Formats: sequence, structure tokens, C-alpha cells
Amino acid sequence: MKTEFFHEPDAKAIARAGEILRSGGLVAIPTETVYGLAANAYDAEAVKNIFIAKGRPGDNPLIVHIADLSELKPLVRSVPESAKQLAAAFWPGPLTMILPKSDRVPYEVTAGLETVAVRFPSHPVANAIIRAAGLPLAAPSANLSGKPSPTNALHVYEDMNGRIDAIVDGGDCHFGVESTVITLAGEKPRLLRPGAVTLEMLRAVIGEVEMDSAVIEPLAEGEVAASPGMKYKHYSPKAEVYVLSGSPEAFIRYINSHCDEKTAALCYDEEANKINCATIPIGKEFDFSYQAHLLFNSLRRCDELGMKRVYAHIPRRDGVSLAIYNRLMRAAGFKVIYV
Ligand code: AMP
Ligand code: MG
Repeated sequence: MKTEFFHEPDAKAIARAGEILRSGGLVAIPTETVYGLAANAYDAEAVKNIFIAKGRPGDNPLIVHIADLSELKPLVRSVPESAKQLAAAFWPGPLTMILPKSDRVPYEVTAGLETVAVRFPSHPVANAIIRAAGLPLAAPSANLSGKPSPTNALHVYEDMNGRIDAIVDGGDCHFGVESTVITLAGEKPRLLRPGAVTLEMLRAVIGEVEMDSAVIEPLAEGEVAASPGMKYKHYSPKAEVYVLSGSPEAFIRYINSHCDEKTAALCYDEEANKINCATIPIGKEFDFSYQAHLLFNSLRRCDELGMKRVYAHIPRRDGVSLAIYNRLMRAAGFKVIYV
């Protein structure tokens, strides 16, 4: 398949993207989190093709993207008060809500579940394409399954050229980690995936929010994932990633005594000149939002540099760092070295 590549998200690109989506095709679109691989959410065949293009396991459901609050209602059985409050606080933006699905949503989107994940993105190009299509769009991240999520159009091209109908370049993604996922379909609201809308921000709006154990821990043998996406090794470069737990001084000492030409450090900017192997700076020590913005790009850099082994700082577990912790621990397969 020849993939159309639009270098500018201009009116022509947006109209063409809408046309492809209406006729059942797949288009990679920029959002404020990561690039999404979109299809008509009401077209089961189009949705199946997303799974094929990504090599995504069939039991991992997709997020449905809307461009107006009024588009939520047809997708779900009812809209609880908590969803209204969260939508008022964080939509449009990087928050996905899970609610019981309506009959209109095909099981291909929800991977057989009775719930559907919905997000109203804030990215103007994503919104324009949803409107041009005139449809809700099912869209997972636009990477090959297992690889780090794409935060620019080149990443999408590397993974998806020849596999999808079109790619619309909208520049670098602002947040760089996927949306926060909260389920409102259970007894209590529960965080399934951390993102730029933090647990603290959610609690400030709706009070108690539980954190699913899969946010910070690997699933136990035989445990059923509340969010199917959490059970897969994810976001990984080819290199083995190790998370180092200890002080910044101990981090540098450990790396400098374990250096070779195939080893790299994901380090803070201010550490780069103290480390004797390849360095991939991830931003300043306390600039957590920027670290999130760079995370997937940094993981892809490991492979571009041909690294075999990569050491990273253990992230904090508060604010947006919880999202970095969640992604990095999965990239590392939960391998932690205490230094
Ligand atoms: P991605 O589109 O790559 O960001 O992945 C979507 C994430 O949302 C995955 O981790 C899914 O498991 C999760 N997700 C989507 N729909 C549901 C649902 N109905 N229930 C639980 N998790 C969901
Ligand atoms: Mg993904």
C-alpha cells in the first residue's frame, strides 16, 4: 500500500484525511499526547485493519476520539456526574474515560468488552480531522505494537509507511506520553494508566480515585488486567533497559564503572559531561513535563545509536512522573538495579 504523507496539516490534508476515514481507511494523526492511528469507530472492518497494521493483540481495546462533548452520549449507555465533572475540568485534553458502551460501538473497538474508552483531544489538527470525517475515530498510538509510541511524524513513518493510507504531520506532540486512562465503569473511579492529567488533578475534581496496581507493578502470574494494554511488555527499544534506583551520584558512579561502547545513559542534562559512555539527555532533573515530552524519543534514540544496554534514573511516583515511571518500568520489563 502506498502511504500518502502530508507534510503540512493544511486544509487540503485535512479534507483528504476526512475522505480516507469516511471510506474506511487508516490515517495517522497528530494529537497533544502521541500520534494516533485513526479509523471510523463505527466501521468494524476499518477498526480490524488498525490491529493488523500495528500487529496489535486482538484483546487490547482502542480509544474513541471525539471533537465535541455532544459526541460522547451516542457512544455510552449513560454519562455519570463524575464524567461530566472530569469533562468540564480536563476536556479537551489528555484524559480518557471508560464508561459502559452503547450498542452503536462495535466490539472490534472494545476488544469484546462492555465498556468503551473515550477521549476529546485538544490538538487542533486532531479536532479538524475528526470534524472533517464527521465521525468518532478509534485510534490507538500509531506505532508498531510493542515499540515506543510515536511523538513525531518521522516515528510514525518509520513504523507505518506502506501499512496505512496516510500520515498527517502536525509537528512534535506536546505531552509526549499517552493520555491518562480512568475507568468510571466500576464501583469507584480507578486510574488505569497515568498521564499528563495526574492522579492528584483527578482527585481534586472528583475526590477518591483508586490506583490500579498495574500502574506501578507487573501483573502477577494469571492476574486479569483491568486495562488489557497494561499486560504487554511495551514501549521497548531493542536495547535492554535497566532502571537504577539510588542517588544521582550513585547513578553516575554505577554507569561509569559499567561503560562500554554499546552502553548509553538516559541522564539529566546537567549530568551528561560527567558520564563516560554515550548519553541521551532527557531534560533537567526537576523538569518532569519535559522529561515526559522526551521519553519515547529517547527510547527510540537508543536503537538509532545501536545501543545494547541503557541505564535510566528511577522516576518519582507523583505528578506527571508517575506516567514516566509507568512507561519506563514497562520498557525495562521492571528490571531495577539498586545502586
Ligand atoms: P493506546 O491506544 O495505545 O494508547 O492504548 C489504549 C489504552 O487504553 C490501552 O492500554 C487499553 O488497554 C486501554 N483501554 C481502551 N479501552 C479500554 C476499556 N474499555 N477498558 C479498559 N482499558 C481500555
Ligand atoms: Mg499504544
